[in-house]
Amino acid sequence: MGFKCLKCGKIIKEEELGKRTRCPYCGGKLLFKERPKIAKKIKAI
Ligand SMILES: [Zn+2]
Repeated sequence: MGFKCLKCGKIIKEEELGKRTRCPYCGGKLLFKERPKIAKKIKAI
């Protein structure tokens, strides 16, 4: 699981981020927590 920077759009891993909450690429503060891509199958009946 990681974070997505809303400024540059890069995916930052939690390890990469460390204790900082800034994007290491652009220094942006807006990080969006990425959810693991688990496709929830919704049964549309
Ligand atoms: Zn960024």
